[in-house]
Amino acid sequence: MKNKSYKSLFLGVCTAIVASTSYALIVPEKAKSNFDSNPQPLPAIHSEASALIISSPVVSPTQEKAKLEFNTFTHKIKKGESLSVIFSKLNLSKKDLHSITHANDLGKQFASIRPGKSLVVNTDVDGLLQQLIYQKNSIDTLEATRSNDGTFDIEIISKPTERRINNAHATINSSLFIDGKEAGLSDKTIMQLANIFAWDIDFALSLRKGDQFTVVYEELFADGKKIDSGNIISAEFVNQHHSFTAVRFEDKNGNASYFTPEGKSMRKAFLRTPVDFARISSRFNLKRKHPVLNRIRAHKGVDYAARTGTKIKTTGDGKIIFRGRKGGYGRVVIVQHGQKYSTLYAHMSNFRKGQRAGSHVKQGDIIGYVGKSGLATGSHLHYEFRVNGVHRNPLTVKLPHAEPIKDSLLAEFKERTQPLLTKLNSAKASNLIARHP
Ligand SMILES: [Zn+2]
Repeated sequence: MKNKSYKSLFLGVCTAIVASTSYALIVPEKAKSNFDSNPQPLPAIHSEASALIISSPVVSPTQEKAKLEFNTFTHKIKKGESLSVIFSKLNLSKKDLHSITHANDLGKQFASIRPGKSLVVNTDVDGLLQQLIYQKNSIDTLEATRSNDGTFDIEIISKPTERRINNAHATINSSLFIDGKEAGLSDKTIMQLANIFAWDIDFALSLRKGDQFTVVYEELFADGKKIDSGNIISAEFVNQHHSFTAVRFEDKNGNASYFTPEGKSMRKAFLRTPVDFARISSRFNLKRKHPVLNRIRAHKGVDYAARTGTKIKTTGDGKIIFRGRKGGYGRVVIVQHGQKYSTLYAHMSNFRKGQRAGSHVKQGDIIGYVGKSGLATGSHLHYEFRVNGVHRNPLTVKLPHAEPIKDSLLAEFKERTQPLLTKLNSAKASNLIARHP
């Protein structure tokens, strides 16, 4: 991938040289004024580099000849303009349009061109389309080039990008989003930050003024300009005086996750809540007066008020051991998670189709929908969490971590994450100095 990018850099320079030569040698003076895009003056190129380019076998003499005779036109895509409309306007062949968009999966991408962007059209002196270029984003360019047999080769050329490391620190004053933006973070990095700590910090309910975070993250640059933010590589979040530290680690299959410095997963084996966008309407309380029965009866779970039909997610990987009606619970699903843990979801309006007792489920899988079946005054989910058969408060029970770094990988993990944590520590230290000079 990297090699391809660098190759494309040279190809780009090479094309520019050939093109500029062509303007000097071939294009008549009159025709020049019709061009929307004149080639930029070339910067001086180091002689070794040009030698490398000239001896490059990538451009065949015939291709070079074709390039020598290009006419270039830049078309600014207007609202509602499809590629087909543009081809008609520019008197280009419908057959070529078809063979570009049907060449392969990359060709199809020409069908999703966006208004406001530009298409560069290169034709030969007879007006026959030779090359179509679309700048997809700040890195990738989609190019269709006519080959000798009249079909089109489609490829994506990626600019070489450089990753730079930056850091930010903020104290929460109004919200994670506003204070994160003020510290210079992109929306994307703020979302990443929230996701990394989502198992430990409830950003909707438990964020407090005075909470702090420090984050070390990548920024992507192309041509010396920042084009995107990359991954968070290490971060610390202090929430209500509890400090959490996370570091990114990529396994040999390229799967990246966040871990504590000791190699425990930042993810927990259980989600804290089985429903999004819900409000807690009744907490775990062993001496509660039951609203329907009107007598003291322990409430051994948490109730989440939510609209009928709201999706209910299983909070951990496991196996459905019960699915059906059960007294006051109404329609209920019980999931067993290994030997030690089980969770229960009651008062459902409906079960998820296609599941039954014995089905295996993954954390976050939908298992049913909120309702008020059984003994319930209104539409809500009653959720229970049991450890070794004993009811525990789902809101405060210490949740086990997801799979940690394997013992056999721990030495490598420490070696590779140490520099990332050092960066985090120096970011924290420099912030302290900045605040207390
Ligand atoms: Zn309940």
